Amino acid sequence: MLHLAQMADGGLARLRVPGGLLSAAQARAVADAAEALGSGLVDLTNRANLQIRGLSRDAGGDLAEQLSAAAFAFHGEADRRRNILLDPFSGLDPREARDLRPLAQALDEALIGAAWIGRLSPKFCFVLDGGGESGVAATPSDVTLLATGQGIVVSAAGLASLALSEEDALSAALAVAACAADVGPDARATGIPETAMRAALGSERGPAGAAGAAAAPLRPRHGAMFPSGGAVAISIPAPVGRLDAGMLRFLADVAETEGRGRMILAPWSAVVLPRVRPERAARVLAASEAAGFVPVAVADRLSVVACSGAPACERAREPARALGAALLALAAAEPGRLPEGRRRVHLSACPKGCAGSAPADLLLLGASERSGWTVHAGGAPRRPGPALDRLESAGPAAVLAQLAD
Ligand code: SF4
Repeated sequence: MLHLAQMADGGLARLRVPGGLLSAAQARAVADAAEALGSGLVDLTNRANLQIRGLSRDAGGDLAEQLSAAAFAFHGEADRRRNILLDPFSGLDPREARDLRPLAQALDEALIGAAWIGRLSPKFCFVLDGGGESGVAATPSDVTLLATGQGIVVSAAGLASLALSEEDALSAALAVAACAADVGPDARATGIPETAMRAALGSERGPAGAAGAAAAPLRPRHGAMFPSGGAVAISIPAPVGRLDAGMLRFLADVAETEGRGRMILAPWSAVVLPRVRPERAARVLAASEAAGFVPVAVADRLSVVACSGAPACERAREPARALGAALLALAAAEPGRLPEGRRRVHLSACPKGCAGSAPADLLLLGASERSGWTVHAGGAPRRPGPALDRLESAGPAAVLAQLAD
């Protein structure tokens, strides 16, 4: 039985995808289950997990049965409490300091077996960054493991230590999580005593910088990259973290014919196919656009993040995600509307800011108590800054026009 959160658009099942690694069979099973038991819509979250939406209240048992048949393994409470975001370019990026896939797997297995896992906050998150192009270490997390030439920097709550082996890094990361579990589900809000954190990290070092944790910004990448051994990786951008059953089946088909039967979910609304023949890359990307994915040329110039918005969230009046998708679709159809340079747009239907807390070039902020948007430059949902304009309703053309101003 899978736990379903009740949302305004029906039940929502959160599927942990440790390391973001998904087989073609699993993607197809999610597509089939989403269509048969839900609305057919699947979120690709900014922690590289999946969420099946629009499920009936009693669908948890059938969903678990269908997905189990496709090699999804369920582990009770641990499934709600183990968030492991792994660098999606692990094992692909020639600039990475270390391939952290084995460490991610060891962490996953340790968390499943941890006696304290039921006391860990469901939001507690580990980020593993191989030290290459992706910059996933910049993603907000509770424990970050960043590979460097000297070892693996383990950082948490502003403290850091340098682990020289994967075993030491694993021990430190688990010790921090155990501390958080001891404090209880509110540990993320109340904090963990610093002495306990220092003991957990096995370090008397001070701020994270002292251990050499030079976190680069997150660098979403799209298109073909990392040529090696007669193959490239392809990062296919999805519109505003939303997949449907047809898009998942497209990915499954391509992964089976071109990508060694597997794909990797990326935390920037993209799916990476790891091993595609270079001469096939352009054709795969063109086919992805026909399947509903975003053209690489658009994704590279216009980054759009959006919360679920209406009708999925009861606090929302405005359809944030649908507007974001319409924005990308219009930009794809009429590239002349795109502004010069790379821009980031954030659509948040209320100030809670579920889609993230980073500032955006253009923020459209809704409110639970009235419809419409306020327009902000350089703000984030919780720190929007002054409103430059107010839109009682906004279509994609109006938003792109705001971006050009
Ligand atoms: S930001 Fe607000 S409106 Fe949007 S999904 Fe979160 S709670 Fe709902």
